[in-house]
Amino acid sequence: AKREGGARFRLFQPEMGEQVLARQRDKTDLRAAIDDGQLVLHYQPIVDLATSRVTGAEALVRWQRPGHGLLGPMDFIGLAEETGLIVPLGGRVLADACEQAVRWQEQGRTVGVTVNVSTRQLSTSGFLDTLDHVLDNTGLRPSGLTIEVTESVWADEVAMQALMQIRETGVRVALDDFGTGYSSLSYLQRYPFDIVKIDKSFTAELGESGRTAGVVRCIIDLTEVLGANAVAEGIETPAQADWLRRAGCGFAQGYLFGKPDVAENWDEQPSVVWAAKRG
Ligand code: C2E
Ligand code: CA
Ligand code: CA
Ligand code: CA
Repeated sequence: AKREGGARFRLFQPEMGEQVLARQRDKTDLRAAIDDGQLVLHYQPIVDLATSRVTGAEALVRWQRPGHGLLGPMDFIGLAEETGLIVPLGGRVLADACEQAVRWQEQGRTVGVTVNVSTRQLSTSGFLDTLDHVLDNTGLRPSGLTIEVTESVWADEVAMQALMQIRETGVRVALDDFGTGYSSLSYLQRYPFDIVKIDKSFTAELGESGRTAGVVRCIIDLTEVLGANAVAEGIETPAQADWLRRAGCGFAQGYLFGKPDVAENWDEQPSVVWAAKRG
């Protein structure tokens, strides 16, 4: 009925109706998936570059969706964030990952788990309680858990406060995808992080660009000045790993050391060398 409003008129095209329905269906299915155990965690090793031993594991969520196969986070995390389903989804991921960390520790392996937490989830009032419950229920000591957030957290005062409170409990906090978002040095200086993860877009270009190498060197030095540990992401070649080790980067993650996989398959990855339990 809106003759002049072309944009508005388009809202009522039949295809759009189908899209709305499809989205509604996705949402209903995702809601059910969280409770029905269709979410699967793959873990990717984080290694100490000096020893090549695994010191941590990042939990990366997948959705085993009936009729659709195994979906990666890019296919559903956006929807989860828009609909608020990220809260129960993230709670499920957190609980499962902490349970796995305890299982590994019971096997004498000193690996901590690292969990991605979206800013939206972090700014929810119940997040600290959820975290507390999960740690109590699993018995995981706080230092066995790292929470990864992206630079979008700077734009959300509530999330930032929650993050700093979490850090005071002994849970580690990591700044993910560093260098791709909204970091400013003043934030970095003001709010302490335990870990800075150097985004894979930088490490991918290491061998090709002297400029990139210079920037990565600066990020590693900056991380050290801030008293944090650097983790380089997306390491695919031994040359990248060697360069990073020589540049003083402590830790790395990438297909070179291991692809994300279910915990049960970790022992079959030849490159996975477990860190032995400290005495
Ligand atoms: P991220 O946190 O930066 O995770 C690293 C991504 O890089 C993962 O993609 C991983 O599979 C991929 N990757 C690891 N090593 C290499 C490598 O050597 N080369 C290349 N090319 N890629 C590598 P994935 O699993 O598809 O996850 C994508 C993103 O989804 C994650 O990026 C993270 O932001 C988000 N995500 C995953 N799980 C969760 C979750 O439980 N909650 C939330 N909120 N977000 C999650
Ligand atoms: Ca991450
Ligand atoms: Ca507690
Ligand atoms: Ca990352």
